[in-house]
Amino acid sequence: MQNLSKYAYKILRQLSFPRLAGSESEEKAREIIVSELRDLNLPVKEQSFSLWTFKPGKGEVTLKGKSYEAVPYGNTKPFSTEGHILYVENPDYLDNRDLNDKIILTYGRVRGEAYEKLWSKGIKGIISISQPLVGFSFSSISQRFVDEDKIIPALVVDYETGLKLKENEGSPVKMEGTTAVYKGTSVNIITEIEGSKDPDEIILVCAHYDSVAISPGATDNGGGSAIALALARYFAKRSPSRTLRFVWFSGEELGLLGSQAYVEENKESLEKIKMVINLDVAGDPIGQNSALCISEKDTVSFVSILSKEKGIPFNVKLDIYSSDSMPFALYGIPSINLARFGGKGTFYIHSHSDKLNYVSKDGLSPVFNMALNILERLDSSVVFPLERKISGELKEKIQEYFKRMQGKKVEVKW
Ligand SMILES: [Zn+2]
Repeated sequence: MQNLSKYAYKILRQLSFPRLAGSESEEKAREIIVSELRDLNLPVKEQSFSLWTFKPGKGEVTLKGKSYEAVPYGNTKPFSTEGHILYVENPDYLDNRDLNDKIILTYGRVRGEAYEKLWSKGIKGIISISQPLVGFSFSSISQRFVDEDKIIPALVVDYETGLKLKENEGSPVKMEGTTAVYKGTSVNIITEIEGSKDPDEIILVCAHYDSVAISPGATDNGGGSAIALALARYFAKRSPSRTLRFVWFSGEELGLLGSQAYVEENKESLEKIKMVINLDVAGDPIGQNSALCISEKDTVSFVSILSKEKGIPFNVKLDIYSSDSMPFALYGIPSINLARFGGKGTFYIHSHSDKLNYVSKDGLSPVFNMALNILERLDSSVVFPLERKISGELKEKIQEYFKRMQGKKVEVKW
């Protein structure tokens, strides 16, 4: 297994560069993954889907004649706009004031319902303040709002600039950005190892290989992508009894686009998928491991017992996870989401600094080993041991999630 963690780390090294969905760098990352799969003699299928993506540009905020660096939100159009700063801690607490000439200054990303609310109030722009010490924490405008031509000029600033702007609340400020949104194409990579005994029972292993535009995405999610390849390598040489399907999704960072496209296009065969094992965020040398089960409680017990049996510490919980397993959850397909947090890599998630220097081979081992143990157990069971069901407890959380993130009202189909 040591060898496979080493292999995963080798792949992670190759993948640690910004991999914006729909861009040439996504293509470069795809070539790395596809060429590994071909070396393993595995069949490769590519699923293209269209999306709003962008050519990343520069940004700037000017206050009292002084300019501060900023990063435009993804999916904005070039803009230059002026307005007065209004600090809004939480858009839910906005009164019915006219916000026509206001530039909203707020902590963190604005999306979903909050974004829609600000749009309807006719604001001039949004300035998002990043958390302290990370530099710029990247954000993008949702696909839906681009579709509806509701693009608000929006920038991300670092924490210090945010403080300065807040101290000058009410002052006029100028925002400029040169990012240019366009309709592009992105690709999911799919391979499969057919089951020798129960080929119609599918276990789907997935990881998103795109990153946010400014980040090398070493932990998010070069780590998970590399681990998925190491797992494919392990099983390619064996003959699993159930079908193992591996998918590297793109467009996750722009709103779970690859997994949504996958679920939409494969509706008839979804019922064959017994379980999704999603790998998103791994590589921190120091950290804690998490298994979030969007499932019935039996899966929580299963993962928890296995983690103790193998001595790989995992915090196991029945809960949702903001990742590619969510579109599957809408159809009642359960998932186990494995991740590792706690080091510098994940501290800097979605910024310039989620980079190779902060990940290690040992940081990949727990997630890799746990995924491998789960897969071997599930595959060697005479009868598939876990319910293909999601606990009713999570129903509301799942619907709430889509509303908050995408401003979309969804109904779970179970
Ligand atoms: Zn991720």
